[in-house]
Amino acid sequence: NLHHEINQKDLRICVAIRKRPLNKRELAKKDNDVITIPNRDHCLVHVPKTKVDLTKYLDNQTFKFDYTFDEKASTELVYHYTAAPLIETIFNGGNATVFAYGQTGSGKTFTMGGDLSSAKTDYSHGIYAQTARDIFHRLSQPQYRSSIEIFVTFYEIYCGKVFDLLNNKKRLRVLEDQKGLVQVCDRKEQQVKSVQDVLNIIQHGMSIRTSGTTAANSNSSRSHAVLQIILKSTAPISSHSNVSSSSSSSSRYNNHNNPAVPRRLMKEVGKMSLIDLAGSERGKDTASGDRLQRMEGSEINKSLLALKECIRALGRGDGSHVPFRGSTLTKVLRDSFIGDKSKVCMIAMVSPTHSDVENTMNTLRYADRVK
Ligand code: ADP
Ligand code: MG
Repeated sequence: NLHHEINQKDLRICVAIRKRPLNKRELAKKDNDVITIPNRDHCLVHVPKTKVDLTKYLDNQTFKFDYTFDEKASTELVYHYTAAPLIETIFNGGNATVFAYGQTGSGKTFTMGGDLSSAKTDYSHGIYAQTARDIFHRLSQPQYRSSIEIFVTFYEIYCGKVFDLLNNKKRLRVLEDQKGLVQVCDRKEQQVKSVQDVLNIIQHGMSIRTSGTTAANSNSSRSHAVLQIILKSTAPISSHSNVSSSSSSSSRYNNHNNPAVPRRLMKEVGKMSLIDLAGSERGKDTASGDRLQRMEGSEINKSLLALKECIRALGRGDGSHVPFRGSTLTKVLRDSFIGDKSKVCMIAMVSPTHSDVENTMNTLRYADRVK
C-alpha cells in the first residue's frame, strides 16, 4: 500500500539520503530549512550567501544519489528502496550490509531502531524490525521450511573496542587468522524463532547501549552498533550447492561443527548486517575537546574513512585490495566487502537546518564519494 513512484534499482552499492523534519526546538528558534529534496534522487542545499563564508559554500549546491527521501518519507518507504532489496541477497548466499551515517541527531537510530522519542517506544517501523519481518516471511515459504535457522548478534564498537550488547557489554576480542579471516570471539549468538524474538533482542540491546552509566562507553553517539541477522543452513551441505562457501568464518568456531555429526553442520549461508554508525560530526577531536573526546573523535574519523575506502573497493569489484585493517569496524565487517554476492547500502541522514549545514555538507560529500 505504499505509493512507490519509482522502481527499486538493482545496485551493488546503494547510497541514499534521508532528511529529517525540523524539530520543535528548531521551529521555535526559527532555524531555516536549507535542504530541498526536489525529486527521488536529488538533494539541494541552499544557504543564504550573506550568512556564510563564500569560499566554503555556494548557494544552491545539488547532489545526486541513488535515492533521496524528504522529511515526509516514512521509514517504510526508506526501507522499501534500501534494505528490502537486500533480503534476496542473503537468501542467495551473500552478505548484505546497511549503514546509517550522519551527525548526532540526524535520525540514524530513528531509521534503524524506530521511534524511541515517545514514552511508548515503537520499534516496529525501524529497519531492524522490518528486515526481521521480511526474513521470517520468506522463511515461511515451503522451500525454506526447517532448512534455515536464524541467529542474531548485537554488539557495539567504541574506541576500537568491541562490547557485546547481548551479554552485559562484555568486552570481546577480535582475532584474525593467517588467511585473514576475522572473528569476534565469544560473541553471544542468539537463535531467534520469530520477529518478536528479534524485537526483544533489539529492545534489550538498545537499552543497555544508551543507559550504561560507566563513563567511557555510555554515550551511544560515539559508538557504532552492529546488529547481524545470520542465516544458517541445517541441511546437508551437498544439497545447498548454490550457496556461498567462502565467507562462513563463524561455522569454524561455533559449537555446531562437531566433525562426528557432519550432516548437521550449521553453515552460515547469508548475513544481514545493520549498522547504526557513530555520529559523523567533527569538532570534539580538535583542541576544544578533552583527551577522551579527542581520542573518541579520531577513532570515529579513522573508522569512517576506512569504511568509505572499503565500500569503494567493493564497488570497483575487481578484487582489488580491500583496506579493512584500517579500523575495528571494517575488520569485523570484512565479509561485507568481499565476494561477488556482497551488497552494501548507505543511508546518510541529514538535519534540515541552517545551523547544521556544515555537518550536512560533510555528510553529503562523504556519501557522494562512497561510490
Ligand atoms: P541519531 O541517532 O542520528 O543521533 P536520532 O535517530 O536519535 O538521531 O534522532 C534525533 C531525534 O530526531 C529523535 O528524537 C528522533 O525521534 C527524531 N527524528 C529523527 N528522524 C526523524 C524523522 N524522519 N521523523 C521524525 N522524527 C525524527
Ligand atoms: Mg543514535
